[in-house]
Amino acid sequence: MSIAENLKLVRTSIASAAEKAGRDPSSVRLVAVTKTWPPEIIREVIAAGQLALGENKVQELLEKVGVLPADLEWHLIGHLQQNKTRKVLPYCALIHSVDSADLAAQINRIAGELGRTAKVLLQVNVASDDAKFGFPLGEVRRVFGDLLTLPNLEIRGLMTVPPYEPDLEKVRPHFSALRRLRDELAATHHCDLPELSMGMSHDFAVAIEEGATLVRIGSSIFGHR
Ligand SMILES: *Cc1c(COP(=O)(O)O)cnc(C)c1O
Repeated sequence: MSIAENLKLVRTSIASAAEKAGRDPSSVRLVAVTKTWPPEIIREVIAAGQLALGENKVQELLEKVGVLPADLEWHLIGHLQQNKTRKVLPYCALIHSVDSADLAAQINRIAGELGRTAKVLLQVNVASDDAKFGFPLGEVRRVFGDLLTLPNLEIRGLMTVPPYEPDLEKVRPHFSALRRLRDELAATHHCDLPELSMGMSHDFAVAIEEGATLVRIGSSIFGHR
C-alpha cells in the first residue's frame, strides 16, 4: 500500500469513529507524525493533501521545516527542552507537549520577545507513569490558574500519551480522564479548552469516542519506524 492509500484509510477510519460516537467528523483533525521519516517520504503525504505534520524532536522539526514547503502546519508533540524554545517557537502552529510550569513561563517569555502568542496544549501524565513526561493530575489542577494569566500563551487544551496497551478498553479510561479533567478546568476557570490531543495509530478510534479533537498518527500512514 502506498502512503496516499494508507492516509485515505486512516481518514476513513477517523470519520467512521467520529460518526459512531455521534460526532461531526470535521471535529477531529489528523496530525501526521513524520518523525524518523525523510523529506522525500513526507512529500508523499503532503501531495495527498496532508499539511498538518507532527515531530517529537526540535532538531528534526527544524531540519524538515528548512527543506519542505512553507505552507505546512507543524506540531511539536515531544518534550521541549527550555533552551530550544527560542529556535522552534516561530515554526510551531501548536506545541502539544508543555509539561511543566517552568516551560510554560519560558514559552510565554520568548513568545513575548518575538511579539507573538504561542498556542499550546498542556501534556498531562494521566497514568502517573514515571517513564512519561507530563503534568501529574494534581499539579495541573494546582498551577492551571497561574498559567492562564500568562499573556503570550494561548492554552488550547490538553494532551496525553497513555501507556501502550494492546487491550483498548484499558486505554479508554486514560482518554476519558483527560476529557473530564478538561471539562473540570474549563468550568472551574471559566475558559474555553477546545482541544484534546489524544490517540495514536493503534488507539485513535477509542480516543475519538472519548472526545479527541487532534489525533497524532504515524505508523498507520508511513509504516513501522
Ligand atoms: C510517535 C508518536 C505518535 C505516533 O505514534 P504511532 O503509533 O506511530 O501512530 C504520537 N504521539 C507522540 C507523542 C509520538 O511521539
